[in-house]
Parts: sequence; C-alpha cells; structure tokens
Amino acid sequence: MIKKPNVIEKWQKRNKYGRPGVPLSATKIAIHYTGKPDVDGDKTVSYFNNVVANGYKIGNRYIFASSHYVIGLGGEIYQLIPTDEICYATNSANSYAIAIEVATTGSDNHYTDATYKSMVHLCAWLCSYKNLNCKKDIITHTDVVGKKYKLCPIYMVKNPDKMQQFKIDCDNLKQGKITVNDIINCTSPNYNKKISDNAKSDSDNSTSSNNQGNGEQYADIPKMIKIIHDVNYHKTPDFKNSSIAGIALCGEVFTVSQLIKRNGTDMYKLKSGYYITTHAKYVAKYK
Ligand SMILES: [Zn+2]
Repeated sequence: MIKKPNVIEKWQKRNKYGRPGVPLSATKIAIHYTGKPDVDGDKTVSYFNNVVANGYKIGNRYIFASSHYVIGLGGEIYQLIPTDEICYATNSANSYAIAIEVATTGSDNHYTDATYKSMVHLCAWLCSYKNLNCKKDIITHTDVVGKKYKLCPIYMVKNPDKMQQFKIDCDNLKQGKITVNDIINCTSPNYNKKISDNAKSDSDNSTSSNNQGNGEQYADIPKMIKIIHDVNYHKTPDFKNSSIAGIALCGEVFTVSQLIKRNGTDMYKLKSGYYITTHAKYVAKYK
C-alpha cells in the first residue's frame, strides 16, 4: 500500500450547510475545480468552513457546499470532512463519492506541478485505502451532472486525454510502478514538448541498426518506458500477430529488463516477461 500523503486537517464543524453528519460508504472519487484560476486552497477552505458553514445566502437562498479535501496551488492537501461522512459537492453522487476540490492556474485552468502531484498521490492513496479502481472509480463532477449543467473540472472535461492520463498516473502510483517523484504533470503547457524532446534526444543517440525503415530506436536501455501511443505487446520477441498478448495504453509505464537485438526494430523485454517495440513513435524513455 502506498504511503498516505501529508494532510492538513481543517475539520469543519457539524452544520447543515456542509457537514450534516450523514454516513458515507464511498465507491467513487470525484474531482472538482474551484471555478476560478489561481485561487489558493486556504481561501477555499476558509470559504467552506467560515462562510458557508455559518449559513450564507446568495439572493434569498442558502448555499449548501463543502468538500472532503481541498488541494492548493503549492500542493497542500487540506481535509475538511472525514471520508465516512457525506459532503455537498457532487449533486446526486454525494451519497457515494468522496469529493476533492482542486486549485487551478492559468486561463485554461490547468494544474501546477505541485498540485498535480498531490492530486495523483491523494487519489492513488484513497483508491488503495477504500479498495477502489483508479481507472474506473475516479470521476469528474461533469460525469455525474452532464456537460450542460457544469464543466467541472473544466480543464479535464475539455481535455479527456489528460483525464485518462491522470487516472493512469494514479493507477501506476497505486500499483508501485512509479514513485511520487516520478509523477509528471501532463497538464503542464510544456508537457507535450517535454515528451517529444525526450524522444528526440534519445533517438538522436540511436544506432542505425534499423534496416527496415521502421524509424528511430533507442540504443541505450532505459530503466522504465512510457507508452506514448497505444501499441501491442507480445509473448515472444517478434511482431507476429500470433504473438500479440495485449495492448499497452498511452500513458502506461513499464519496467524494462532487457534489450532484445533483432533484425529490424529491436524490442524491450519487460519485467512482466512480455516484449514490446523500442520504436520512438510508441515508447519514450521514462527513467
Ligand atoms: Zn464540481
């Protein structure tokens, strides 16, 4: 089981607007954004605990709102409500979802590196602690309410490939394939550039053993590789259809045990015993 992240406890008092004390048996984790970029976590915590919880009206209606966790721009994780009590964040999913409000930055509401790391760490740990599946049980607010009602968190809803990558990062961490230090912020504006730069500088060092015109390969052996395009992995060190064992998905990370030299594109033997291409179109050096 992965180590629990550092959590700053800011328990909300029992109140009908945010912490009604109703028991929760969580089967999903819902992520949210606070609605405006560059609003830090402590402000959101204070709004829930010191404003809404005391009874706060907009127009003539009281606001009912809270969140189990809030993550700040520096990666701080605040907890306001125990995970065995419901909060008011995710509409009809309040009865089964743990909610995490996450601070965002920039006009597109992406995440700082520190925020992203904490978000992955907290979700991976919660999935482990509550026996949930990172790939299936981490959801967005919009998954529950639909796009017409609300785009939340807006960056993840507008960039579903990043949401997919986020869930894979959580799963990789939960399964011990990567450590917290290995987490790369896929929402960073530099992310795609970083990945392609890595692939480029690695392939620049490659040998020209590729005599089938299959593109550039890595000459050195990485410790871990990351899949950058979905690609088959194989039972034997060849690319025959009969040896296909499954598909490695974009974003997944694998540990390499050996480089297999071939006539044509070389392959990595993975720790799992399967084989996968070294082709830089499909795999990038991770570590
Ligand atoms: Zn939301």
